[in-house]
Amino acid sequence: MKELKLLYLYPDMLELYGDYGNIQILKYRMEKRGINLKLDKYSIGDPKPDFSSYDIVFAGGGADNEQSILSEDLIKYKENIKKAVDEGVFFLLICGAYQLFGKYYKGVEGNIIPGLEIFDYYTEAIEDRKKRCIGNIVIEAKVGEKETKVIGFENHGGQTFDIKTPLGKVLYGNGNKFEDKEEGFFINNVIATYLHGPLLSKNPDITDYIISYCLERKYNEKAILEKLDDTLEEKCREQLLNEFKKENK
Ligand code: GLN
Repeated sequence: MKELKLLYLYPDMLELYGDYGNIQILKYRMEKRGINLKLDKYSIGDPKPDFSSYDIVFAGGGADNEQSILSEDLIKYKENIKKAVDEGVFFLLICGAYQLFGKYYKGVEGNIIPGLEIFDYYTEAIEDRKKRCIGNIVIEAKVGEKETKVIGFENHGGQTFDIKTPLGKVLYGNGNKFEDKEEGFFINNVIATYLHGPLLSKNPDITDYIISYCLERKYNEKAILEKLDDTLEEKCREQLLNEFKKENK
């Protein structure tokens, strides 16, 4: 039986708006195709994980407070994480975790939370605490060969600058910054995004992209994923896309 290994970082600190659902959806769509998902978790105080031994690393969103606590711990693994990224391990990073892979996150009070500096974007919160990018969001993205509308929910004060390879073009909502045209960060083996939702439950194309990518890398052969019955998922997506179009007018 084929198997993918996933490392879930800081499940007790980075888990907003159902981010854990992303792992459940990966597992669900893998098991439907007879692929096993082995899940390990890491949080502060646990033994040092071997990042390179995983196929997927996942980390979710978190409030500024949690980010400042765990940033120190995360940075201890900077070199190991960088090596895993360079080797092609897949990283799915939502919101707070997205920010921590950049240069730094500057909080509302001007406090600097250092990032891993694996990517050269940076994030600064808007000084007005009440001003946040909150609400539903739709972006248009191309992952692998597939063009898809990605639906999610964003809630961030952080404004992310210097993104050279965004995940997608904003059709509805804010994106990397207030009223931005672009959202997220994407390279072959990294999806970093502000989209909660959870992201993967609303976007089967993204889930299947990640599964295919990881299978091809691990087993060194073209992954042809069996098509699943996504009738309900597609109906739900259609409904949401129509709703947001209406709201937009
Ligand atoms: N604390 C960060 C911000 O407000 C991230 C929030 C989140 O992960 N939803 O920008």
